[in-house]
Amino acid sequence: MTALIEAASPHVMNTYGRVPIALERGQGVRVWDVNGKQYLDGLGGIAVNTLGHNHPRLVPALQEQIAKLIHTSNYYHVPGQEELARLLTGRARMTNAFFCNTGLEANECAIKIARKYGVDKGIEKPEIVVYDHAFHGRSIATMTATGNPKVRNGFGPLLEGFIRVAPNDIEALQEATEGNPNVVAVLMEPIQGEGGLHPMRVEYLQQVRKLCDANGWLLMLDEVQAGMGRTGKWFAHQWAGIVPDVMTLAKGLGSGVPVGAVLAHGAASEVLKPGNHGSTFGGNPLAMRAGVETIRIMEEEGLLQNAADVGAHLKAGLQQALGSVPGVNEVRGQGLIIGVELDRPCGVLIDRAAQAGLLLSVTADRVIRLVPALTLTRAEADEIVALLTPLVQAFLAE
Ligand SMILES: *Cc1c(COP(=O)(O)O)cnc(C)c1O
Repeated sequence: MTALIEAASPHVMNTYGRVPIALERGQGVRVWDVNGKQYLDGLGGIAVNTLGHNHPRLVPALQEQIAKLIHTSNYYHVPGQEELARLLTGRARMTNAFFCNTGLEANECAIKIARKYGVDKGIEKPEIVVYDHAFHGRSIATMTATGNPKVRNGFGPLLEGFIRVAPNDIEALQEATEGNPNVVAVLMEPIQGEGGLHPMRVEYLQQVRKLCDANGWLLMLDEVQAGMGRTGKWFAHQWAGIVPDVMTLAKGLGSGVPVGAVLAHGAASEVLKPGNHGSTFGGNPLAMRAGVETIRIMEEEGLLQNAADVGAHLKAGLQQALGSVPGVNEVRGQGLIIGVELDRPCGVLIDRAAQAGLLLSVTADRVIRLVPALTLTRAEADEIVALLTPLVQAFLAE
């Protein structure tokens, strides 16, 4: 099988260490490969397939939209942008949105907002606070903001204008910025996804909000992975009762159709003026329809509550099955973003789980990541536990 799939892609750049399977179709949280083998999808396209595969209400809506209009241009008004912007900003208690296509683009836009916000105030060399273990994307700017040297190495020179601090340490943030008039913003993931599913503590988020207010810095939250209902609230930071100045979204926003967004309010929402920023594809009618329908269906089907309930059930199941197994450091997560941290690198589990019929990923070398569709049922969560437990036990006993 490996040879067959590799031989099938000799013209695709070799940028991914791929699992040697090729998927052909899906239904809910199940997918089938080209040989007809079935898998339970614990990865959801990396937190993208919010509604699962072939959702019976999303698919006809997108089909209808494709037949009407796929793309026009931002030369013209796109009514779907106003509609999606209204839905998102209402849920975020913010005011304005800019639409792009991916997470890195959303973060690139946030970085531009922060820099121009500073320049407009007379700060010539604005600096943005970022974090150890952060992941913000793979463009030159977002890669510079990213904490993992493996992502950055070989692509220098990196950009100036970033200060890096440890997560969850307010004194470290105060020290690193003490007396520095060039700081304009703090950029962080409320739950670090690629960095190993590490949450920022509620008190820390509140402390940073206060510090930003006291200094006139923008609090910019990267909710590309943890946002859009995954934690059981619309946005992960809402567990801390704060509102950011800028928030970036992508992954789950269009249930598989590429959609990225930057939300802003207050001064941050007025920084970009005509000509300052744009995107050819961003905010096209198909993408906007995908975002609008995703939110509508999430609400009609109570998927925030489902993510909270089934996520808690899945976490409890994993804790019970694996929590006391030697070699399992921690089961953690909120809603349907769950990590099982082992005491050793466990990348081999990706292929082994696929062989056993379960799709998952491993981040930060030793954290098994589960980010399935928010439609997951308790019975399906139990299946994930039943499939994963013997694999982890056997691996740790080797
Ligand atoms: C995936 C991710 C990104 C990058 O998104 P792309 O769509 O791959 O560019 C940025 N930030 C976070 C937190 C992510 O999880």
